[in-house]
Order: sequence, then C-alpha cells, then structure tokens
Amino acid sequence: PTSSLSAHRVTTLAVANQKGGVAKTTSVASLGAALAELGHSVLLVDLDPQACLTFSLGIDPEDVELSVHHVLTKGTHVDEVVIETDDGVDLLPATIELARAEADLLTRTGREQVLKAALADLLDDEEGSTYDWVLLDCPPSLGVLTVAALTAADGVLIPLQCETLSHRGVGQLLDTVHDVRRFTNPDLEVWGVLPTLYDGRTNHARTVLETISSTYDLEVIEPPIPKTIKFAEAPAAGRSILATSRSSKGAKAYREAAVHLVERSQRPRMRGKSRKR
Ligand code: ADP
Ligand code: MG
Repeated sequence: PTSSLSAHRVTTLAVANQKGGVAKTTSVASLGAALAELGHSVLLVDLDPQACLTFSLGIDPEDVELSVHHVLTKGTHVDEVVIETDDGVDLLPATIELARAEADLLTRTGREQVLKAALADLLDDEEGSTYDWVLLDCPPSLGVLTVAALTAADGVLIPLQCETLSHRGVGQLLDTVHDVRRFTNPDLEVWGVLPTLYDGRTNHARTVLETISSTYDLEVIEPPIPKTIKFAEAPAAGRSILATSRSSKGAKAYREAAVHLVERSQRPRMRGKSRKR
C-alpha cells in the first residue's frame, strides 16, 4: 500500500536561558512527561553538568557509567547511553564529567555540531526517527553546550520567571540565537517564552510578560506555569510533577503547554528564510 504520510520527523527543542533557577529543568521533565502522556515518544537530553534533570528523573548520576559526556567527546553512540525512565521518557543522562566536556570541546573543530551529529546517528534510520521529540535541557550559560544545543535544535523555548526578569538576559540569548542562525543553524526558530514560577496574584508578573513579548517580539506559550510548592517535592521522588501531583495546577499547566507545543510543531517550518528574530 502506498503511504501518503510524510516521513516521520522529529522535533528537537532546546530549552534555554542562561539564568539559573527559571525552571528549565523542571519544564523539560514536565513537558517531556506530558508529551509522553499524549502518546509521543520523547528523548530528554541533560546538558547541564549539575545533572539536575538526570537526578530528578530518579537516576543517581554517580551510578551512570556512560553519559552525554561520552557521546559529545568520545564518539560513543547515543544508543549505548540512553536510559528509560519511570516517566515514560528516555534520557541521555549527564554526570559532573560534562563540566570537562565543555573545556575539551573548546579546542575542537566542529564543536558546535557535535550534538547535532550525535543525534543524527539516532534519528536518521530508514523508518524515520525513533523519537517524536528531543528536548534539550541547557546549562545556565551561553557557552559551548548551549550553542551545541541551539545548533542541533529546530526551535528554542525560553522559560522566563516573570518577577525577576532581566531584559538584558533575554537580549543576550537572542543575540546568541542570531549568531547560531548565521553560522551553524539557519533553520533555528524561536518558539517563544514559557512563563514559569508565575504568581497570578501580582499584576507585576503579567506586566513584565507583556513588556518582554512586545520588546523582543516573542510569542508567549500559554498557560503560564503557576508557582506552587508541589514542584519542590517532585525531584526528590525521582518523578516529574505529572506523576507526583497528577491533578495539581502545575501538572495541568504543563499538560496544556505540551498541547500547544504539539500544535506549534505542526506549523510549516521556515527553512533558511529570513524571519523576525
Ligand atoms: P533551572 O533548570 O532553570 O535552573 P529548575 O527547573 O532547576 O531551574 O528550577 C529551579 C527551582 O525552582 C527548583 O527547586 C524547582 O523545583 C523550582 N521550581 C520550578 N518550577 C516551579 C514552580 N512552577 N513552582 C515552584 N517551584 C518551582
Ligand atoms: Mg537546570
């Protein structure tokens, strides 16, 4: 039988913001679990030497022998490193060794491309890609690992904590995105801002959000993720909030945001065309 379906394609999304504590890792774990609930196959990649994503999915980095560090610097195949987690997503784990990868890569030609190349090994088999989604949890810097993530990505999602927002931080991130488009990944799209740690009781949060989206011409992925104590409990349990607190406001918000990401992924891609930043 002939198939009119287009070849199965993966969407690779970098979750980036050089500011720490804005819920990058929480968003990667929660959106990953939400996409898995929707029936999508998901790979999460921990690109932070702190290994918080790895830990929060119930894996002790100390017990991990092969990690993303080996993939990026030693040419180890992704298949050898991937771990299945209880949240229904696969994980490319990190360990503290990843801190060395950053330094090792600095002297390498093609360092921006290492992650893209490693993921291509996994994704380009004849039947199409193994995964529907690859979510990249970036470290809190605009260094080699974040640039490698942006180079491997179709899109970038920027978690923003509205109260303590630094406009300059977003500008720097967008400058990096601009450079990545010029030099290593012309197809990179900015998917927008995901408001996190959102306290709807303050007008301030909403105002800050409106300012940022108009100043930088960025879309806002709805709904804002509410600030709730439930998130503090999840990492220690080794599961995302979708499992530890199934019907909490936070879990619901991430489920809704995941549906919006699926819709966003179905938009035609603007390959290599100039577009608004
Ligand atoms: P990042 O990866 O950007 O450094 P994390 O995802 O590690 O940020 O989150 C930083 C801290 O904020 C963690 O302790 C996490 O549990 C907490 N946190 C994340 N999202 C929320 C939320 N919506 N409400 C309350 N606490 C949150
Ligand atoms: Mg993090």
